[in-house]
Amino acid sequence: MYKAYIISTGTELMLGSTIDSNSVFIAEQLGVAGIKVVGKSTVGDSVEYIRTAFEMGLNMANIVISSGGLGPTSDDLTKEVACEVLGCEMITVDEEVKRLEDFFRRRERQMPGCNLKQAMFPRQAKILKNSRGTAPGMYLKKDNKVIVLLPGPPREMQNMFLNEVEPLLKNDFPAIDIIARKTIKVLGPGESQVEDLLGDLMHGSKEYSLALLAKDGEVHIKITAEGKNLEHSKKILEKIANQIAEKMGRNIFGLDEDRLEAIAGSLILSQEKTLALAESCTGGLLAKMITDIPGSSKYFWGSVTAYSNEAKMIFLGVSDITLKQYGAVSSETADEMARGILGKSGANIGMAVTGIAGPEGVSDEKPVGLVYIALADAHSCSVKEMRFVGERDAVRILAAKSALDLLRRYLIYGGL
Ligand code: AMP
Ligand code: MG
Repeated sequence: MYKAYIISTGTELMLGSTIDSNSVFIAEQLGVAGIKVVGKSTVGDSVEYIRTAFEMGLNMANIVISSGGLGPTSDDLTKEVACEVLGCEMITVDEEVKRLEDFFRRRERQMPGCNLKQAMFPRQAKILKNSRGTAPGMYLKKDNKVIVLLPGPPREMQNMFLNEVEPLLKNDFPAIDIIARKTIKVLGPGESQVEDLLGDLMHGSKEYSLALLAKDGEVHIKITAEGKNLEHSKKILEKIANQIAEKMGRNIFGLDEDRLEAIAGSLILSQEKTLALAESCTGGLLAKMITDIPGSSKYFWGSVTAYSNEAKMIFLGVSDITLKQYGAVSSETADEMARGILGKSGANIGMAVTGIAGPEGVSDEKPVGLVYIALADAHSCSVKEMRFVGERDAVRILAAKSALDLLRRYLIYGGL
């Protein structure tokens, strides 16, 4: 398997003011391309540290990819240092000088002299176009190694990686296509529960491996299979995916790039139903998730964010007595909220979320994370009590995600 090493440069990454998201993106893309990331360095804008990082990368990997430090200012050093480490001669590329001059002319600005260094490249390098900025990248092959330098701003880096670098890597590292991958996404059981359910499958074999990624209540089971050729890998992958599907059952909501909100949306759409929401503790987050999906206007009536008791009474018709007797966070209130929005909207499905996001409003019987989710249709209303662990933001996200998942289960299996 081909090995890659990622270097992120920039003093701002050392200070904690900027999160190193570039290396995460590059690692993900390399993973998809079947290239294994064996190490990473994050270094400040210093010749010495950048040099050490490149030396280490060239020692450990076939491919070294860096981001940052390609700008015109004196702290942009990556290209110069990389060239020095590789022993390459730098030349001024006329075409690049022209391109820079054009760039500034179009903006009616004078080009600062220091920008000229962006037109200097090692003689052997392939220059990578930057359609979103002034700093081009480069792709250089030397002594069986590939060195790729990318700009720091994530928009520029990502665009350049996908359009320029990926095709070159695919060409230079054709074994890429032997590996087959799939992600199975579940919601319901937590990460350790998923691990338990998967049992021995988790240990993998010579031919496949599993990795778990927990994110906002979802658990992603990532399968990587490597056989003798791509077809063989795909066969192994399918076999493992089927075994996982058997163990995970109804908890599986999607695969690969699937999003829960899109899955739930397409189910409502295909059943020609409409949805209305009554949200308390999620404060509109559930409506936001649903409307993140283009075309949701075809099935989404809208949402009432009824945060106070008064709003629950006025807009949803929740009774004063219910609120007094059981409290705003109760199965009874959730039930009345869902039935209320169903009646007011005339939608086919009414859903309600009420809970304690914390840190205030907590009592012994009602801890942070206690959430009731109700789903009403023309025939009945069911309420589910959930107990989430986490702080305010986490509880709200988990509540909204769970509501979407309950909707999915209702639409496929007819119950919560
Ligand atoms: P540079 O190409 O080094 O001039 O970087 C320009 C800007 O890109 C920096 O000020 C950061 O805001 C951003 N940037 C650089 N490196 C990274 C990184 N690894 N992750 C996220 N943003 C970055
Ligand atoms: Mg920088």
